[in-house]
Amino acid sequence: MTKHCLMVGAGLSGAVIGRLLAEAGHKITIRDTRDHVGGNCHTLRDPETGVLVHVYGPHIFHTDDAEVWEYVNRFETFLPYKNRVKTTSQGAVYSLPVNLHTINQFFGQTLRPDEARVFLEGKADTTITDPQTFEDQALRFVGRDLYEAFFKGYTIKQWGCSPTELPASILKRLPVRFNYDDNYFFHKFQGMPENGYTAMIARILDHDNIMVELNTPVTRAEAEGFDHVFYSGPIDGWFDFRLGRLGYRTLDFERFDYQGDYQGCAVMNYGDVDVPWTRITEHKHFAPWESHEGSVLYREFSRACGPDDIPYYPIRQVAEKTLLADYVELAKAERNVTFVGRLGTYRYLDMDVTIREALDCGRAFLASNGAEMPAFTVNPL
Ligand SMILES: Cc1cc2nc3c(=O)[nH]c(=O)nc-3n(C[C@H](O)[C@H](O)[C@H](O)COP(=O)(O)OP(=O)(O)OC[C@H]3O[C@@H](n4cnc5c(N)ncnc54)[C@H](O)[C@@H]3O)c2cc1C
Repeated sequence: MTKHCLMVGAGLSGAVIGRLLAEAGHKITIRDTRDHVGGNCHTLRDPETGVLVHVYGPHIFHTDDAEVWEYVNRFETFLPYKNRVKTTSQGAVYSLPVNLHTINQFFGQTLRPDEARVFLEGKADTTITDPQTFEDQALRFVGRDLYEAFFKGYTIKQWGCSPTELPASILKRLPVRFNYDDNYFFHKFQGMPENGYTAMIARILDHDNIMVELNTPVTRAEAEGFDHVFYSGPIDGWFDFRLGRLGYRTLDFERFDYQGDYQGCAVMNYGDVDVPWTRITEHKHFAPWESHEGSVLYREFSRACGPDDIPYYPIRQVAEKTLLADYVELAKAERNVTFVGRLGTYRYLDMDVTIREALDCGRAFLASNGAEMPAFTVNPL
């Protein structure tokens, strides 16, 4: 039987679930507060320079999930792109993630992999036997010099607190490579959509059974009258923040333009704590197959998210998880609403994971054959 479903949010979550259901014959209405589709992946061609700008921060597609890779390539051509990040720290430029080149340059050495391993073990603080904090863990793994140059300042700026207040679990493995591989991601499939993410998501939404309504915020009360609602907005927002607000970090992007090539790479991090921005992104380098004289750059600043800011990174420390558990209980008591995506489940999700979860969620709906869907198809806790 045909159902009429409401998708709250025209980001990847809403678009992918909506498309799957539309192809199965269901009627879909998608509403978004914003004046564009694409959610936080939104890309926009800058009218002055012609540069494709990643409006809510840089997005690089990477995955090991062959089905997800096939899915995105069905809607857009992906061109090869490897994320190679540099960092300016203590008056020099280094390669990230910390690799053999970084180590040799930083310590003025010419070490081979095995030698570097031994060298770094000599720097590690072995008096720390049971690391509890991010700082302990980093000192235990790489020692004070590398920690202060590459981890400490950036972490303070990104999270707005001392690494001594963050759990050791953030740094699970040794964050160093003993070779010259500076590809930021390990994934088998990596690339950039030739015409941007918004073009791709607009194509996903281009189906006779899908109606998109922009500039249309949805509240719980306004979601009445549909057979089912898939909600990709903030879970606490659905309940009008009645138990309090879940904590996020937000980002401020200070745009500036340049004639020519400003920094020679897409992403330059700034590791020193006295530089207030965390990184500068030069957007034309995300599309190396294009050529533009002008350049658009973002200086990126991180800070606590206020009620009127865009929520970017969920904090998910002990207090937030306790509050989240209470919202999850409220959500489970709702009828015919499924909470999805990065805001609906209060988790940081890369795009490939978002698509994977959206495909699984849409399929669960189709398989339910009219039986009631759960509030979550993944556990947000
Ligand atoms: C700074 C940053 C950089 C990132 N970089 C990468 C990267 O390099 N690679 C990668 O794989 N992933 C990256 N991501 C993750 C990526 O942004 C997410 O995977 C993706 O945006 C999740 O899609 P979504 O649809 O769940 O959420 P969103 O994109 O947030 O979409 C949710 C939509 O819902 C709308 N909405 C919310 N509430 C309401 C309401 N009440 N009524 C109507 N509409 C509403 C919002 O306006 C929004 O458009 C990055 C994330 C951030 C924050």
